[in-house]
Amino acid sequence: MIKQNFLTGEYVVFSLGRANRPKDIKGEVLLTPKERCPFCEENSHLIEKPLYKIYNNEIKLINNKYPILSNGKDYGVHFVLIDTKSHNKNLIHFDIKHIYYIMKCMKDILDMLYIDKKLRYVQIFKNQGVNAGASQSHSHWQIIGLSMLPNKQRYMIDKLKKYRGKCYFCEIDYFKNLVYENNSFVAFCPEDSLYCYEIKIMPKYHITNLRYLDETGLIALADVLSISLRKLNKIYENLDYNICFYNAFRKEDEYHFFIQIIPRMGNMAGFEFSTGMFVNSVLPDIASENLRAIKL
Ligand SMILES: [Zn+2]
Ligand SMILES: [Zn+2]
Repeated sequence: MIKQNFLTGEYVVFSLGRANRPKDIKGEVLLTPKERCPFCEENSHLIEKPLYKIYNNEIKLINNKYPILSNGKDYGVHFVLIDTKSHNKNLIHFDIKHIYYIMKCMKDILDMLYIDKKLRYVQIFKNQGVNAGASQSHSHWQIIGLSMLPNKQRYMIDKLKKYRGKCYFCEIDYFKNLVYENNSFVAFCPEDSLYCYEIKIMPKYHITNLRYLDETGLIALADVLSISLRKLNKIYENLDYNICFYNAFRKEDEYHFFIQIIPRMGNMAGFEFSTGMFVNSVLPDIASENLRAIKL
C-alpha cells in the first residue's frame, strides 16, 4: 500500500513483511569518549564561553564550532544546546523539570532570534545517536537560523493555507492513533507516517510557534515528550532518534506547531535517497496501539 503524506507530499510504502528481515549488522559505533568530549565540564576549555546557561549550568548554549552557515553571502546562525552535564544520559533519562528547562530555553532562543530580521526560518532539531547522524555522543540539540524558507516548509505552508479554510491539525482525529495525551498536548502516530513508530506531538489548541506557550504549556510539552520517548525506548532499547520542531517563524498563521520524533532503525538508504519515497514496515494504528499499551 502506498500513501502520500498530506503535509509534505512525500510517498510512503507500507511494507509489513520487511519488519521480519534478519539483521546482519548490529552496530555499536563509539563516538567521542568522555575524556575527549568537548561538551563535558572538565573539557570546557575546548569550546567557546556559553552564550546562555540555565538550570544550574546544566543547560548551555554555545556557537557551533563548525557552522553550516555564518556571516558570509548566505547569512545564517548555528548554535548547539548542550542539555546535560552527564556524558551518557539523554532525554529518555531526564525528569520532567529538566526537560521543561530545555523547552524554556528553546523558547528564549526563538525569542532572541526573532529580533534578527535577517532570519527567515529557524530549525530546532536533535540527532540522538550515530544512526541519527550525531557526531558527538553527549546529548545536545542544534538550532539553525536561515535567511530563506526551505522548500519543505514552503510546501507545508502552501498545503495548510489551501486546506478548507481551517487548520488541518485542529481538525485531525488524533485519538484514532493516540499514544498519550495530557491537558494541553497529544502524542499520536500519524496515518501517513513515513517512518516506523514515528510520533507527532501537538498542542491541542492552535499556536503557530513554541514561543507562544505559557508555563503550563511548556510543562505539558515536557511531560508528553518524556512519556513518548520513554515508551519508544521500551519498544527499542537504546534507540537512536531525531526530534524535529516545526514552528512558523514569521507570519504563517496557518502553521500549527508540532514536533516529530523519528526513531532511526536504518530506514534511510538507497531507495529512499533515489526516489524520495519511504518504506514503513509498521502500520501507524498498530504502532500506536503498542505504544499506548506500554505502562511506564
Ligand atoms: Zn561528554
Ligand atoms: Zn491548528
